[in-house]
Amino acid sequence: MLHVCDLHVHIGRSSSGRPVKITAARDLTFENIAIECARRKGVDLVGIVDCASPPVLDDIRALVEAGEMVEQPGGGLRYGGRECAQVTVLLAAEFETYEEGGGQSHHVSYFPSLDALQGFSDALAEHVTNMELSSQACRMPARTLLDLSLRFGALFVPAHCFTPHRSPYGSCVERLADMFGDAWEHVAAIELGLSADSYLADRIDELADRSFLSNSDAHSLPKIGREYNIIEMEAPTFDELRKALRREGGRRIAANFGLDPRLGKYHRTFCEDCERIARSAPPVLECEVCGSQNVTRGVLDRIVQIADHEEPRPPAHRPLYQYQVPLQFVPGVGAVTLNKLINRYGSEMAVLHQAEPEDLAQTVGTRIASLIVHAREGTLPLQAGGGGHYGKAAPGDTGQLDLPGLS
Ligand SMILES: [Zn+2]
Ligand SMILES: [Zn+2]
Repeated sequence: MLHVCDLHVHIGRSSSGRPVKITAARDLTFENIAIECARRKGVDLVGIVDCASPPVLDDIRALVEAGEMVEQPGGGLRYGGRECAQVTVLLAAEFETYEEGGGQSHHVSYFPSLDALQGFSDALAEHVTNMELSSQACRMPARTLLDLSLRFGALFVPAHCFTPHRSPYGSCVERLADMFGDAWEHVAAIELGLSADSYLADRIDELADRSFLSNSDAHSLPKIGREYNIIEMEAPTFDELRKALRREGGRRIAANFGLDPRLGKYHRTFCEDCERIARSAPPVLECEVCGSQNVTRGVLDRIVQIADHEEPRPPAHRPLYQYQVPLQFVPGVGAVTLNKLINRYGSEMAVLHQAEPEDLAQTVGTRIASLIVHAREGTLPLQAGGGGHYGKAAPGDTGQLDLPGLS
């Protein structure tokens, strides 16, 4: 069975109102996440990465005791909240680690049960100043966090692996094997991040035997499912996910759906002095115009800098990486049009991948319909992002693109 999985979503606030992630939106509660996943996005397994926070843990326990969430035999919590929003929540925790040689990076640990998560949260409390906030720094290197996670039966995944700030390749090491030593084999998978894709990551040999995850890292409801994975497994549970990442018994990642990496916020190098996004051939490591070294290095530039190969060398098991341009990036699609589309087709995924062009045109007009179809086919002209600014669709002055079969 195929499952739609987004395994990196932040929660905003516990129901008692205490902040979990100050920058995250207030409406990111369990209930709202479940409704967004199940009803608008078609996501059926969601990894929530702020679960080691004590107020979030309290929330989860209360929901379990009330019977609203049910621990699944294979791990994960089935949530059948109001309005038939059925989704399985995977308990997870994102933390920031420090290497002795310098460099900070983020990693997500996924837990099989509430008890395992509680044990991990307790063990980590002495290393973290404020456990309530998300993605907090723990005073240890990534290798130590990996060991601690494994003690509680977790799956350990380095997050947004190439981003310039706080990621293993972006700000710590050229090879993950150097970071994890003989524990490297226990790293369950790699999260690509918005500005990278499988084709780029498959230029690095040490990643050939790892499964890749494409997750949204959403801090607000609309961004859930902006990137996701189609995973072939028997059921949306922790045990099945573990098998899928190891490609055991026919389980596997069947496809990655992600932003065209050019749309990501860190795709190209960005000059902090003249605020320009690099355009010349990568790697650009200083500003091409003013020569400043004060740059935020792009993901593309970094990968080209450290790659083993000039071309991707995907292993036989590597699934399709399907680009998708979220509807929010399509020029002319605002909140009203978005709601209209979701009401008409059931979910954003259905609009992006299934809606018939003629039918789309009748719903939102030929201009937006043609942009959506071009986005679907990967032919929408794009301008690369960098330095924290998203890339954008750039369909030219008129915003009009020809579309065969649409008049
Ligand atoms: Zn992070
Ligand atoms: Zn995150």
